[in-house]
Amino acid sequence: MGANKFQTVGLALCLLSTAAVSHGFAETRLSIIVYDAARVRPKTLARAEHLAGVILATAGISPSWDAGSLGDLGSLAADFTAYDREECDAEQSPAMLRVQILPRAPAGFAAHALGLSLPCAKRGVQVTIYADRISHVTDNGGPTFDRTLAYVFAHELGHVLLRSAAHARAGLMKGTWSKTDWQRAAVSVIPFTPSEVEQISAFQEPPAETKFAQLASLRAR
Ligand SMILES: [Zn+2]
Repeated sequence: MGANKFQTVGLALCLLSTAAVSHGFAETRLSIIVYDAARVRPKTLARAEHLAGVILATAGISPSWDAGSLGDLGSLAADFTAYDREECDAEQSPAMLRVQILPRAPAGFAAHALGLSLPCAKRGVQVTIYADRISHVTDNGGPTFDRTLAYVFAHELGHVLLRSAAHARAGLMKGTWSKTDWQRAAVSVIPFTPSEVEQISAFQEPPAETKFAQLASLRAR
């Protein structure tokens, strides 16, 4: 996700923040472990997690947030394996995702990018967010730090839930946010689109083979 304050692309407003509810999807519980190496103030982090939860709820996801031990972070290698589409899609949705907030983006990290995600990672940290890039958005007329962080949480976790690095033309999963996008984010909840909700929901279903195996195990002796 990037921030480009000079870009003034118009934004088609997304429909309904209650997309998930209106489609009748069951809520899927998701445990999110946050490793806060940037040492964001606890109240700020709690506000960000709350708003990110509201955004994720528009896709039928009900997250719980827990602090991960920074001592564990060093042993959690990120999974940079290049999985192909089939391998990525075949994997069952993890019940737990890991997010790390680091103080600074490394030198050479894409300009304006606020974080990154590994949508098909099978282990380690799936989402990395850079606190200095969040501050940059806030300091340049964007939403407050907690609100910006909430949107980066939701966007990057969105990639993992959608199992895709692709970006949408508008809305939460847009790749480069204009000043207009951030102004909208400052005052409203930008939801997942109905098609994103559908895609996320499809991945939450257990694969057909698992259903069959469970039924097969019900045989009488
Ligand atoms: Zn993105």
